[in-house]
Amino acid sequence: MASKKYVYFFGAGKAEGDGTQKALLGGKGAGLAEMTNIGLPVPAGFTITVEACAYYDSHAGRWPPGLEREVRQQLSRLEKTCGKKLGDPGDPLLVSVRSGAARSMPGMMETILNLGLNDQSVVGLANTTGDPRFAWDAYRRFLQMYSTVAVGLSKEVLEDKLQQLKERLGVRYDHEIPADSLQGLCTQFKSFFREQTGSDFPQDPWEQLVGAINAVFRSWNAEKAVTYRRVEKITDLKGTAVNVQQMVFGNLGDDSGTGVCFTRDPSTGENIFYGDMLINAQGEDVVAGIRTPIKLTELAERMPAIYDQLCAVRAMLEIHYGDMQDLEFTFERGRLYMLQCRTGKRTPAAAFQIAVEQASAPLMSQAEARRLARAGYLPERYVARAAKPVITTDQAIQRITREDIERLFYPVISPAIPPEQLAARRLTQGINAVPGAACGKVVFNAADAETLAAQGEPVILVRKETSPEDVGGMQAAKGILTQTGGKTSHAAVVARGWGKCCIVGCDALKIDYQARQLSVNGTIIRQGDFLTLDGSTGVVYRGRLELEVPKPPKEFFTLMSWADRRRRLRVRTNADTPEDAARAVEMGAEGIGLCRTEHMFFATRERQLAIQEMILAESTEARKAALDKLLPYQREDFVGIFEAMAGRPVTIRLLDPPLHEFLPRSPEQAEELSRATGIPMQVIQHRVEQLHEANPMLGHRGCRLCITYPEILDMQVRAIIEAAATVKQRGLKVHPEIMIPLTIDARELQILVDRTRATADAVLRERGVKLEYQVGTMIETPRAAVMADQMAQVAEFFSFGTNDLTQMTMALSRDDAGRFLPDYCSPTKTGIFREDPFVSLDREGVGTLVFIGVDLAREANPKLKIGICGEHGGDPESVKFCHRIGMDYVSCSPYRVPIARLAAAQAAIEDDLQRGKSRRSRPTAGSRRPVAKRGSGRKASHRRSGRR
Ligand code: ADP
Ligand code: MG
Ligand code: MG
Repeated sequence: MASKKYVYFFGAGKAEGDGTQKALLGGKGAGLAEMTNIGLPVPAGFTITVEACAYYDSHAGRWPPGLEREVRQQLSRLEKTCGKKLGDPGDPLLVSVRSGAARSMPGMMETILNLGLNDQSVVGLANTTGDPRFAWDAYRRFLQMYSTVAVGLSKEVLEDKLQQLKERLGVRYDHEIPADSLQGLCTQFKSFFREQTGSDFPQDPWEQLVGAINAVFRSWNAEKAVTYRRVEKITDLKGTAVNVQQMVFGNLGDDSGTGVCFTRDPSTGENIFYGDMLINAQGEDVVAGIRTPIKLTELAERMPAIYDQLCAVRAMLEIHYGDMQDLEFTFERGRLYMLQCRTGKRTPAAAFQIAVEQASAPLMSQAEARRLARAGYLPERYVARAAKPVITTDQAIQRITREDIERLFYPVISPAIPPEQLAARRLTQGINAVPGAACGKVVFNAADAETLAAQGEPVILVRKETSPEDVGGMQAAKGILTQTGGKTSHAAVVARGWGKCCIVGCDALKIDYQARQLSVNGTIIRQGDFLTLDGSTGVVYRGRLELEVPKPPKEFFTLMSWADRRRRLRVRTNADTPEDAARAVEMGAEGIGLCRTEHMFFATRERQLAIQEMILAESTEARKAALDKLLPYQREDFVGIFEAMAGRPVTIRLLDPPLHEFLPRSPEQAEELSRATGIPMQVIQHRVEQLHEANPMLGHRGCRLCITYPEILDMQVRAIIEAAATVKQRGLKVHPEIMIPLTIDARELQILVDRTRATADAVLRERGVKLEYQVGTMIETPRAAVMADQMAQVAEFFSFGTNDLTQMTMALSRDDAGRFLPDYCSPTKTGIFREDPFVSLDREGVGTLVFIGVDLAREANPKLKIGICGEHGGDPESVKFCHRIGMDYVSCSPYRVPIARLAAAQAAIEDDLQRGKSRRSRPTAGSRRPVAKRGSGRKASHRRSGRR
């Protein structure tokens, strides 16, 4: 039996794998393969698959059968390609052993550089490079990394020995240490290894290689990596791949260097080549933030040839991937090598600017592309494409995620604060790593951050630098502040991924971990004191400053206008007040899909008393009298909302909650009510007892109230129509839609619709006004959904109330299920639901009911307008489902309106892509609506049996 392939080679212009194989080769391995295939200069190597790691993991650290043979074969292939042998004493091949899972987990797992060095080959390296200092430094680094990463010896002890040496020599930087001192340090490291492990540092390169590969395998389950995956909710990965790759050296003098760069500015999105680098340094040095890096622009001046090559790589990769890339490169004695590429993380504002510019403007001018081609750096076939947009507007729309939108609205320091006041609070300034502002209590370690945040306190985590161990605390904090590091340091990269406010490289901070305090130019800030960070400028302020939600960048509006052109679904909002309505209109809402009237009754104590009086009334007359008091309040509210919506449709739901929710909750409240209304206390107590229900959510609520007390409906309809008439008479357009909640039967609905129309028409006659209004119902009981054909003959519109529908279909209380739903949603514990069904519509179960309802209703009344309201209307997957089953609109809370607009456009694009595919594969006449599988939103057929 041919065994499974575990190792994939890349080098000399060709790779066995490619960029699509992230799941197998990890992101790094897939990127290295792809870059090799498109002709970029990538040092040769091979990738051991994620499956090998998974096997190692589940077989107590054994390699799968055949892996050793494959690694030996691929190693000798690598040796042939490079013309050197691993650890050869004369002219050694050195390799790096690099981790890399399918998703980027910055700094979580291990990498070992310079493997293949030993007491002999270090001499060979010194000879071939002519640089003994370099060779001993490389050996020193390898001893250090291998001892700590592969064997688990203390990082601090070795780091201390290095520091002590530097102090003895009176030098600041590693590269100032002379060769013989480094050689001495290597001896010290090796004896430390012997002391600690009882054996000599492995001199056999194969043994080193196996040890390093195993270390990378094991790093998958290191505590910090496990924590990171938990925090990031990464559950779909099986392990890390291992990349073994020929070493190239950025620390071979002043014509060597290393850096990380982004094809566009990851903070602003600006179309510039953005990056940090170090001359005469090895890879890790940039990320570790040990020395302050220089900008790419400086490279352009100092080494234009290298810079131009990088510019060509930038163009090729952006064209190839159609997205902004994050690159690692090294140049060795004037020769450029690419070591990593992946889709770059970016701030939300940058996400919009990049998507919009990539779809509407070229990366570089034709002249610039020509120049790079003439220099021999940019292959001819890229020249024309470099001067065109790299993606379509559809691709730009598909690229943006719900998080991108949410993060756009992250807070900034209130612009209303006077400049003098800001200046007075200004403490210091660092590097603006991730924009957005944060305000909170200072803590100095991750554990304290987690503890304090768990108590509901806002926290600012302050560290000299962060490391992967700090991730839990970084996540818990509102903002992160570090003393060292640049925009590509660990803190910056991790925080950027979350869109969390972060300031790094704040040199002026003097942090005292022991005393839990920091000082800046004499000002002392203690643990628990407030700081405010402005991640956009890098300024740190003392104390607590007011934050507010910012105005989005212009590219946001451009992209949303593209989305609006593309979508078929309309997007409305759930709003109960004129302020919410106005905000939603700014966010692009095309109407109100749900205006809850009960919130209006809680607005003031006066109103509460009026509704309580209504509920307590024992006769119809008394009830009407109380309702008359409520009428003006309701009318006034509706006028405000109609005006704010300026002619857009406004769906108003009649009273919905069980009456007891309005009743006095304490004896004091009951007494106040008694005083205000003159109703005796005993009567109040008696009514409260009478109204008690064992199961109020399934009790006397929704339209059932109006069946019993039609005068409630009369008052609400009167208020709505009078308000509409008033607004109309002021010369504004108005389009009210009256929605009857919680119906279960067409006859029930008919009674209420008739009553609504009678009242509404009477009001219009009284006022002498003509206006259009509609009467419809919420579909939120399973019975209404399966009898939708009958309901549809009575209603003019349906709004699926999927909160209640989910609650009733699953028999799960939305208010209480939070206690056990996490068990149902945990992939490791049970995996019963993929997501909380109250957050994302359960498309298979509840969705099927909705689908049945839509289908039946449309057949009975093709003109029926159908939408959804409730939490699901702002959840992208649920919105896409609504699109697929042919709804007319979704309605969601104001700040989620853009998310729904985007999702609706994405659904339309996905639809077209799908249709394009199916047209090509089987040319059939299209049906009215796409019909497909259960739960996908397109269903085959359902039986209509047992119906009356
Ligand atoms: P991480 O995932 O933490 O970035 P990497 O595997 O990318 O880890 O390696 C860490 C550093 O070492 C990076 O700066 C990388 O560019 C550098 N590096 C890795 N392999 C090589 C190599 N073969 N030659 C030179 N530098 C390398
Ligand atoms: Mg890397
Ligand atoms: Mg409801």
